[in-house]
Amino acid sequence: MAVLVIGGAGYIGSHAARALRRAGQEVIIFDNLSTGHEFLASGFEFIKGDVLDSSALARVLSRTHAIMHFAAHAYVGESVANPRKYFRNNVEGGLSLLNVALDAGVKKIIFSSTCAVYGEPAKVPIDENIPRQPVNPYGVSKLFFEQALESYDRAYGFRYASLRYFNAAGADESGEIGELHDPETHLIPLALSAAARTGPELQVFGSDYPTPDGTCVRDYIHVNDLASAHVKALEHLQAGKESFAVNVGTGSGYSVQQMISAVEEITGKPVPRKVGPRRAGDPPVLVANPAKAQALLGWKATRGLHEIVATAWNWMQQQHASKR
Ligand code: UDP
Repeated sequence: MAVLVIGGAGYIGSHAARALRRAGQEVIIFDNLSTGHEFLASGFEFIKGDVLDSSALARVLSRTHAIMHFAAHAYVGESVANPRKYFRNNVEGGLSLLNVALDAGVKKIIFSSTCAVYGEPAKVPIDENIPRQPVNPYGVSKLFFEQALESYDRAYGFRYASLRYFNAAGADESGEIGELHDPETHLIPLALSAAARTGPELQVFGSDYPTPDGTCVRDYIHVNDLASAHVKALEHLQAGKESFAVNVGTGSGYSVQQMISAVEEITGKPVPRKVGPRRAGDPPVLVANPAKAQALLGWKATRGLHEIVATAWNWMQQQHASKR
């Protein structure tokens, strides 16, 4: 019996699939390739399918003992402009998946939640028990699914782990898999491509925030640390323990300016940039208190800023080399 990794041809899912395999789990990847890439799933059994396709899911769930659900739309700005798309996939798709899984008797799920469920927290670092008040449709869609999981847990004994990601970043040390978004909106790949002159100059979204250097502060978590949190979460549920929600972050925040400096140091190139207006919906500071994940799962991030930027840079260079 396998772990079904839905969205396993995407950035975080592909790293989690490898981490699961390293931990001795059998893996099947299910992905509609709307934003994923088949080569990120290479070496795994791969099924092309949509999370809303109940019959395709029902077939594969007969060979599955647990689910990791990564298949979601995840651009805040797009969710504001097109909430229908977000509610269709993240809410309707998610619920449909839960119901098929319940019918198939597969009652363990690791869910990709987000710090966006907290909205603009009154206090940082953020603890799990503060009110969840998302401020955009993306965060609302993720909160809805968290709450559906809570109901299914109580009513049907459906065990879940809601992993509230902070800023996933970096790439596998092998250089074989990494972040590949289209359009790319994330700070690190944009800063790296600006430095490499393969992309436009970086727009810094605001320098008048109430932070030490005026730019936004985020908790960047290496994607392989994130992946190992998934493995630990699954093992926790497999041991028969209770459902839970935890932050998956490092507990350390870095500003946009600090990130630019790290990119310059690691690439040895300046990052051409311009300060522009704030981006709507960006809170000044988002940093996790990761203590609960450590206490509950024995998990903590082991990679820091340098490793995040260095692996992302290595991945970008490999991508360019393979295109030549
Ligand atoms: N950011 C920026 N310029 C960009 C992209 C991002 O200044 O082109 C900032 C953004 O305002 C935020 C931080 O970088 O403070 C991280 O943004 P990203 O989009 O990478 O992740 P998010 O926090 O939105 O999940």
